[in-house]
Amino acid sequence: MARIFCIANQKGGVGKTTTTVNLAAGLSRIGQRVLVIDLDPQGNATMGSGVDKRALELSVYDVLLESATVAEARQRAEKSGYDVLGANRELAGAEVELVKLERRDKRLKAALSTVASDYDFVLIDCPPSLSLLTLNGLCSAHGVIVPMQCEYFALEGLSDLVNTIKQVHANLNPDLQIIGLLRVMYDPRITLQQQVSEQLKAHFADKVFNTVIPRNVRLAEAPSYGLPGVVFDPASKGAQSFIEFAEEMVLRIKSL
Ligand code: ADP
Ligand code: MG
Repeated sequence: MARIFCIANQKGGVGKTTTTVNLAAGLSRIGQRVLVIDLDPQGNATMGSGVDKRALELSVYDVLLESATVAEARQRAEKSGYDVLGANRELAGAEVELVKLERRDKRLKAALSTVASDYDFVLIDCPPSLSLLTLNGLCSAHGVIVPMQCEYFALEGLSDLVNTIKQVHANLNPDLQIIGLLRVMYDPRITLQQQVSEQLKAHFADKVFNTVIPRNVRLAEAPSYGLPGVVFDPASKGAQSFIEFAEEMVLRIKSL
């Protein structure tokens, strides 16, 4: 049965989408069956996996409104090596439409139960907000992976997310836990980043993943080719670190 993870952080531009598509590609390389769900109306995880968001006939929007199943709406991202349940701007409207519907926070969870045996991992790329879309992700998941940059305000922003996760755990999804904090865009030459990294480890101990993702230009270039960095340039430092992270995740889920 699939283990389901949200990649979440309410800040934008912290590396959620990069983490989602590269972890997916890394897991695929080591033989795992993966589904990526794009829950962000920007559709970056869709495009970054090689699926054209403008050409989607069915998307996660249709799944949330229950006019399509996951099996109908998913697509194979052939080069990337995994399946994608895509998103585009249409998803921005779902937020408003969901508010007046029943089970508005559990719709993704219900939809995913029908494909759980098709995958080892489902990775949900969340939008940069703690919205109803993110809530659908958190209600579906076993755990949350939090990518973060080791910057001055990083810890401050984390407390809102941690509180939301605690509330969802207490009220909506008792399975939910923080799997770990992933240090991304890391530059070891910057003293402040080293310091914040040490603070994170002091504060969150084994909730900080061992793998560190360096700042690496190949990871930033890859989306314009419609590929995860792991596929675009597997030998690059960024790709290698995501392959290492995929291995760490496979080990980590054995102890969940
Ligand atoms: P989010 O999904 O949280 O908004 P993204 O994954 O889109 O964040 O990353 C924001 C920007 O930073 C993108 O342009 C992406 O290519 C770039 N980026 C992310 N991770 C790295 C990295 N490790 N090294 C270099 N650039 C990165
Ligand atoms: Mg994103």
